[in-house]
Amino acid sequence: MNLSKYNIERCYIAKRSNTRPGLRLTIGVPAFFVAHDTGNPGADAENHYRYFNTLTGRSASAHTFIDDKQILEIIPTGTGPDPGEKAWHVLYNVTTDNERFGYNANDAAIGVELCYGGGIDFEAAYKRFVWYLAFCCTKWNKAPRLFIPSHKQLDPARKIDCDNALKIGGRTLKDLIVDVVAEIAVSVVPSPAPAPKPAESDFATLPVAVATELIDKYVRPAWSAARAAKQQPEADHFHRLAVNLRSAGGVDNQLRPLVAAVKLHKSNVQEIVFRWLSPAWYAARDAGDPDQAKHYNAIANHLRAAAGMPIE
Ligand SMILES: [Zn+2]
Repeated sequence: MNLSKYNIERCYIAKRSNTRPGLRLTIGVPAFFVAHDTGNPGADAENHYRYFNTLTGRSASAHTFIDDKQILEIIPTGTGPDPGEKAWHVLYNVTTDNERFGYNANDAAIGVELCYGGGIDFEAAYKRFVWYLAFCCTKWNKAPRLFIPSHKQLDPARKIDCDNALKIGGRTLKDLIVDVVAEIAVSVVPSPAPAPKPAESDFATLPVAVATELIDKYVRPAWSAARAAKQQPEADHFHRLAVNLRSAGGVDNQLRPLVAAVKLHKSNVQEIVFRWLSPAWYAARDAGDPDQAKHYNAIANHLRAAAGMPIE
């Protein structure tokens, strides 16, 4: 799919227990995506940001509001650099979600809200809604048919969203899922002029899978731990390290292709090898797992090549 077709904008509401408790999603990343509509015809994404940023007196929120102009995350989801947090977009005591997914949607899912009605152009908002759900399914490797319930499916006695808003554009939930599947299947035409590498280029592009493995396994947990310990300089360091790894893989934080991969700093390679790969290599060797040890060695060599260092 085309991961850079639209921009995901992020403007987070303040942390407050009734809207944005600031708690990480139960399993760190979203387990499924609940398709809502706002039930508030004519109100756009900005309106909902302002509403939830000052809401008192009741518990309610959702992560992402999509209108005909923008896709706005008001609570972190993990599509960008900020790890996903919980939001209050379903009722805890209605347990369809627990039965179907093993988790309550408040704890483990992203709530995605379609804005509609009034001056909002349905088709433009719907296209963005489809694309965003496709982006999430791609990023977290989820099949749309299984992992995009509507709020109505989770709470049929009380709720009619997002089917109600879809009806305005003559769509059903089934149509939505079909369109999400089609969006994922769109192949991206490679740009006509692939970035010419300078002839003197002395480094290799880091495979994105290697960058992702390192970030998921080591860098992000270290970043989270530093944040939890209120060690902001450490946290910033790990954030930069993740950015550098992605740039070395030729992608930005949303995995969109950069014009060219950026050479990795030698100090980054040394740190990753010293801090994580070398201990992992020894542990694998001591556990009698030579394949795993080879794997860590291969990763270290990808890093060295990405920094223009000799491989070992
Ligand atoms: Zn809803």
